Amino acid sequence: MTAKKPKRIEDVRKKDDLLVVTGAGGFIAGALVRYFHDKGFRRIRAVDKKPLPDWYQVTPDVESLCLDVSDRDNCARACEGAAEVYNLAADMGGMGFIERYRVECLRSVLINTHMTEAACRAGADRYFFSSSACAYNIDLQEDTECRALKESDAYPANAERGYGWEKLFSEIVCQEYWAERGLKTAIARFHNVYGPHGTWDGGREKAPAALSRKVIEAKDNGTMAIEIWGEGTRTRSFMFIDDCLEGIDMIMHCDELVGTPINLGSSELVSVNGLLDVIEKIAGTKVKRSYDPTAPKGVGGRNSDNTMIKAVLGWEPSTPLHTGMSKTFPWIEEQYYLRKAGKRVVE
Ligand code: NAD
Repeated sequence: MTAKKPKRIEDVRKKDDLLVVTGAGGFIAGALVRYFHDKGFRRIRAVDKKPLPDWYQVTPDVESLCLDVSDRDNCARACEGAAEVYNLAADMGGMGFIERYRVECLRSVLINTHMTEAACRAGADRYFFSSSACAYNIDLQEDTECRALKESDAYPANAERGYGWEKLFSEIVCQEYWAERGLKTAIARFHNVYGPHGTWDGGREKAPAALSRKVIEAKDNGTMAIEIWGEGTRTRSFMFIDDCLEGIDMIMHCDELVGTPINLGSSELVSVNGLLDVIEKIAGTKVKRSYDPTAPKGVGGRNSDNTMIKAVLGWEPSTPLHTGMSKTFPWIEEQYYLRKAGKRVVE
């Protein structure tokens, strides 16, 4: 769709304002740091608890700090002098991870609690929080033919155990810091994000990367067969990373959205089998499919209702799945063969 000029965007940043991004050793925040760098911002502080060699992307000329932001003092250090804070740090992964490690997911509440306070004390103008579609009431997502989730569907609350409840509570923290303390908070509920430089192996990867890797492996080892978690009929929408970055920037600077959770996701619904069809087309191959109905699989169906984002920003994530996967699959394939050749890659 053609993007209209978003309403009430109040981006008064100067290129030398300090932008702080947490979770920057990970997929989305690592890409966000690069995005701001490429837009000409000269003072960016990237923060992650992982040691620097394990970061997915390290952008040159950026202050990169290894700090655990579940610790209050580290949050103060991270936010010092910040004009804007983008908090994307969280212990998370695909269904395999969030169903198995609910306590780890819940403990991310410490990150957002300390980060909002630190951003507020540091006098930051704006604070961004990456929430999730997992905050939505799961009763509305049993059916694979689900209706798309609109923002009001988070209440009455019955979020995904662990991860989803943490997101929902942290949203409230952001809302109250705006209502009571005047910190301009932006809250985006991401629906599955994919793209190059994301997790593609090791247990935290999500369906687009996991299926791509399995197809690459099946081709490489000649079995031409893969196992799919679940029945292959569950449905989701997947947002390409470039759309996610643009959306974060717009949501953060839209006054109409301060303190207001909003969907940031694609509305192109696809089943797991349909996603695999797309991957097979890109890989130029077909694989034999078997199914493991006992594996973690999450809700029946989930899609993003983009009525609100279209109305407020005149924009929505619109990269077709095939286009985004055409950029993602070759990247994963390259990583796979680099690793096989004994080169160090970040998974
Ligand atoms: P990711 O796992 O690639 O990145 C998260 C990063 O946070 C990791 O590098 C991790 O080391 C870091 N981190 C965790 N705990 C930390 C701590 N205590 N201190 C400092 N750093 C810490 O995940 P991602 O896919 O880039 O997700 C980014 C954000 O978006 C997360 O908040 C996630 O919940 C949210 N989100 C992502 C998706 C998605 O599809 N990727 C969907 C919904 C919401």
